[in-house]
Amino acid sequence: MTTTNKNIIIAIDGYSSSGKSSMARALAHSIGYRYIDTGAMYRAVTLYAMRHSMISNGIVATEELSSALSSIKVDFKVVGDKQHTLLNGEDVEDEIRELAVSNNVSQVAAIPAVRHHLVAIQQSLGNEKGIVMDGRDIGTTVFPNAELKIFVNASAETRAQRRFKELTEKGTTTTYQEVLDNIKQRDHIDETREESPLRKAADAVMLDNSQMTIEVQNARLLELYHTTLEHLN
Ligand code: C5P
Repeated sequence: MTTTNKNIIIAIDGYSSSGKSSMARALAHSIGYRYIDTGAMYRAVTLYAMRHSMISNGIVATEELSSALSSIKVDFKVVGDKQHTLLNGEDVEDEIRELAVSNNVSQVAAIPAVRHHLVAIQQSLGNEKGIVMDGRDIGTTVFPNAELKIFVNASAETRAQRRFKELTEKGTTTTYQEVLDNIKQRDHIDETREESPLRKAADAVMLDNSQMTIEVQNARLLELYHTTLEHLN
């Protein structure tokens, strides 16, 4: 096995609730890299827009939100072994995971000005490499030159089952059907938006985890990381 210390950028993209955040976090932890959840950044901007009445019946006041972007600061802080998302300094980690935010986030993420604003922040976070970043456009737009790109998928039903279990365990009242509908709607918006739609980068490794245990997934990622380092030598 290689002994190189070279820091690289690892881009993990994929569909909603494909488990990519958990695997990205586990990988970052085991190799001592920083983990960045870019979905949390889009969620925080969505929460800001909701709180400022810029979204009504799923329609976003695009111009108003675009001109407010300079006053929206999204950051992360480490709490225990977890990263929490901060919106203008306030810890909003739980609130951004609620279904109300999930129902509006893809509309907000389709706005070009929002994407440009967040992509610039994401690129600056990667300046020093040594980073695992997950999202929808990391391998295609944010870091097209990332040394390792992974594209994660699983069937919509498998993803909805996992997400439903997660939400009910947290005490959220919802139904499997509601979660499945939300996932399908987000997939559709993410894949069909004009500005950096969800796509597998040509050089990304495809990982379908429908039938994989978390342990197998994590081992596969570590193997890909080590193989990438070996090829860089
Ligand atoms: O990853 P997560 O499901 O939390 O992301 C929430 C939403 O943010 C996605 O459904 C997608 O619309 C948007 N997103 C995006 N680009 C990213 C990360 C997330 O458009 N890089």
